[in-house]
Amino acid sequence: MDKKIRIGVSSCLLGNPVRYDGGHKRDRYITDVLAKYFHFVPVCPEVECGLPIPRETMRLVGDIENPQLITRNTGVNYTEKMLSYCHQRVIELEEEDLCGFIFKKDSPSSGLHRVKIFISPYNSIKASRGLFAASVVNHYKVLPVEEEGRLKDAILRENFIEQVFCYSRWKEFLLDSPNYKRLIDFHARHKILLMSHSPKYLSTLGKMVAGGKGTPDAELLHAYEVVLMEAMSIVASVKKHVNVLHHIMGYFKKVLTKDEKAELLEIINQYAKRMVPLVVPLTLINHYIRKYDTPYLKNQVYLEPHPSELMLRNHV
Ligand code: SF4
Repeated sequence: MDKKIRIGVSSCLLGNPVRYDGGHKRDRYITDVLAKYFHFVPVCPEVECGLPIPRETMRLVGDIENPQLITRNTGVNYTEKMLSYCHQRVIELEEEDLCGFIFKKDSPSSGLHRVKIFISPYNSIKASRGLFAASVVNHYKVLPVEEEGRLKDAILRENFIEQVFCYSRWKEFLLDSPNYKRLIDFHARHKILLMSHSPKYLSTLGKMVAGGKGTPDAELLHAYEVVLMEAMSIVASVKKHVNVLHHIMGYFKKVLTKDEKAELLEIINQYAKRMVPLVVPLTLINHYIRKYDTPYLKNQVYLEPHPSELMLRNHV
């Protein structure tokens, strides 16, 4: 890869001492593994909006639609200060050309999912987003986002990283004077990958491309981008991968020997029962692609949607 993909990351996850107590929450998977492929843009909303280190801890209070950011002991309300910072910062981040964002879980500023909100002094529910995370999600509708805690789940991790790489390829496509022929090519190369996430969305995207003859206008490209990233955010389950593997096998059917066919079916079956990870049937399929030279499959992003060195498919 000649250029690292840029993603936003909650600053404390990178080891920066920005937390309320002057500490950090360095996440080794991000700093030691993902750093080889991603350029990180650190963001600490609490420090960047002018709060000191150390500082009093805060929590979200009120109703889910309109949460207030309040200090725990002294009850100072920082909602307006934070929201005005968020408004400005999400616009500034447009310059950063981000392809994803990893947030710190549970934070009233940075948490993405199930952040505690106090609906009364002693009664909280896990149902909100941190104020900054909410601003990012509202501003960048198609940006892949995830929390560091959920990245420990192999399936969610693979799904998020696949989305980031897909979004990066899409942005590169847009930069290089997109024409209709290239849109057809982009769609064709992503067909099997999209099938592993959602056959329904694959069909919708196919119709959009087929209906957009001539130069793809901004409206078509925007609509395609929205549906593409929505599709990619749907988790590719084992069942969907099994369907895809059978679909791929259909391209070899006539050329595989009886033993090869039986071996591939057996390995797909083992994957379906979760006895082996996805990388096992895919390795055999790649071998047959090389052996029988199938150009359509060779070009499919599904076979390597992210660098194999990340070993993401060794765990799903
Ligand atoms: S969770 Fe967010 S606001 Fe809190 S220290 Fe980390 S980056 Fe800063």
